[in-house]
Amino acid sequence: MSDIANLLSKLSHNKQVYVGYPTSTDFNHTNCAELLNQHLNNIGDPFKSVSCYSSFSHEKAVIEFFMRLYRTNLDRSWGYVASCSTEAILYACWRYRESASKKVVLLSSEYSHYCSEKIANVLGIHHQVVRSHLNGCINIDALKQMVTLDTDCAYILVATMGSTITSSLDDVAAAKAVFEQVQVEHFIHLDGAFDGAFLPLVDEYQLGRNFTSVNVSGHKFLGAPVPSGLLLMERRFVSGEYVQYINNDDVTIGGSRNGLAPVLMYNTIKALGAEAGMLAKYQACLDKAELFLGILEQHSIKCWKNDKAITIVLEEVPQAIFQKWHFPQYRHRSTLTCLPKFTHAMLDALITDILNPAAISMSDAKRFDYQVEPL
Ligand SMILES: *Cc1c(COP(=O)(O)O)cnc(C)c1O
Repeated sequence: MSDIANLLSKLSHNKQVYVGYPTSTDFNHTNCAELLNQHLNNIGDPFKSVSCYSSFSHEKAVIEFFMRLYRTNLDRSWGYVASCSTEAILYACWRYRESASKKVVLLSSEYSHYCSEKIANVLGIHHQVVRSHLNGCINIDALKQMVTLDTDCAYILVATMGSTITSSLDDVAAAKAVFEQVQVEHFIHLDGAFDGAFLPLVDEYQLGRNFTSVNVSGHKFLGAPVPSGLLLMERRFVSGEYVQYINNDDVTIGGSRNGLAPVLMYNTIKALGAEAGMLAKYQACLDKAELFLGILEQHSIKCWKNDKAITIVLEEVPQAIFQKWHFPQYRHRSTLTCLPKFTHAMLDALITDILNPAAISMSDAKRFDYQVEPL
């Protein structure tokens, strides 16, 4: 078999055991195939000037679509498609650090994504972890205690809109009220890597009200063959310098940027049917999550989910399960993601294994290795 066929066989095998992680696999980008034989580079600010090899028109359309979802517009806000959500969050925290009048401290909860710690490290700023409630939401009392202890700094809160493990939603309005009560300089970023693609369709999230920046991954709820992370931020925090060499502003973290990613995001949003189609996909996932939760409970498997979540949290799953099935673990918890990729047949097989892990057939186990010829 060719190297590509080997890789494809690994991927198609693993899809059968891919019951967790927030990445959709129900997309088809065959109509973009010819782009693989073209060079694309979205270097610079998509809104500044046109460029010979960019897909800025796609990028701008995606940004404006999400601006509509987050009830903002180009006058007040700006955005770009970063390489992943981590980069988008890093970008927001970087701009906040530059805007702050004091030494900044980054705050995030126990259930926030692991990238917060790394971002603080890259930016050379202090990171403090705020306690979470058992369901994963940030503990507002703990936040208040922490902030009250040191009022001589500016705080960046990376609040989570759908934590990776429990899909918990941090209460940004309450967090903002805390900062205002204590009277400290503060900046609030909303990390919506997964849930941020659908929650604004069911609840009101307005950029500029309780948060001033947000990120959404292109490869999670939406689905794409390569990762990407959309960033939206209030314009007042954004700045870049004109660079003659690229005839555009250097305003993003990377120089050269993936020009295929915005086309793929545009393509997926369009194929789903924009807001109405994305809402229908979410509703179908939510129905499935509620159905699957009931089935797991009927088998006396310890599980629960947050209200709007399409992820189910399992408590204390036997370790043997993870040799075969592909889903994330954090402390004693693990997470099933009720995207279209997770079928009823997969749930039945998973339940059989959880109830009798000794009988797991390793021939079905997830496959990591495949062969390529050395170059
Ligand atoms: C996946 C995820 C991230 C990081 O996204 P990358 O695209 O992998 O960098 C950040 N926050 C949350 C809540 C996530 O689920």
